[in-house]
Amino acid sequence: MSRPSSAAGSAGKPAGRFTIPGSGLAKGLAVTLRTMTRKTQTRQYPDVQPELPPRTRGVIGLFEENCTVCMLCARECPDWCIYIDSHKETVPPATPGGRERSRNVLDRFAIDFSLCMYCGICVEVCPFDALFWSPEFEYAETDIRELVHERDRLREWMWTVPAPPALDPAAEEPKEIAAARKAADKLAAQAQAEQPGRPGEGDA
Ligand code: SF4
Ligand code: SF4
Repeated sequence: MSRPSSAAGSAGKPAGRFTIPGSGLAKGLAVTLRTMTRKTQTRQYPDVQPELPPRTRGVIGLFEENCTVCMLCARECPDWCIYIDSHKETVPPATPGGRERSRNVLDRFAIDFSLCMYCGICVEVCPFDALFWSPEFEYAETDIRELVHERDRLREWMWTVPAPPALDPAAEEPKEIAAARKAADKLAAQAQAEQPGRPGEGDA
């Protein structure tokens, strides 16, 4: 049985093709000349900051007040780089004769950004809107241990989280805002009732 003949020559080049000596050099010079006349695309970082999309995954901010220590983010994190410690606390009943309740109190919340792969799963799965992406990315360290950001640092990142886009003017008011407005109105009414006449009021 004869072997199929190859189109390539013995040196691995296609048979019947000849190259002019120096043509590769000429091509390279042509590319160089072409790019020399083009506008440069180099960004002069850090003198010029990059224009990043507002939802860039730079770093994760923690809004601690919303965290119920449900542990969902830590369980779902594929890199196991979220560390949460907590303890239980007994809360007295809200009404006389009511039952005491227990609640989780956060002791530690940290993210190790040397392990994080910025998948965003923790932000997506948090049922209580306690984790947010910030576009901030300038937190490189010379010591890898410094990339474990504890709760205070994670809270600081919250100030760099961009505001969410405005609601459509025709959209229904979100339930959370309606509830917060109702609670604020109630508190304002209570405060007014406790101070019926402040000194100087009604003298004019
Ligand atoms: S972004 Fe992904 S890898 Fe990073 S902490 Fe969240 S879940 Fe873990
Ligand atoms: S999923 Fe959200 S509420 Fe639950 S522990 Fe994580 S940050 Fe806190």
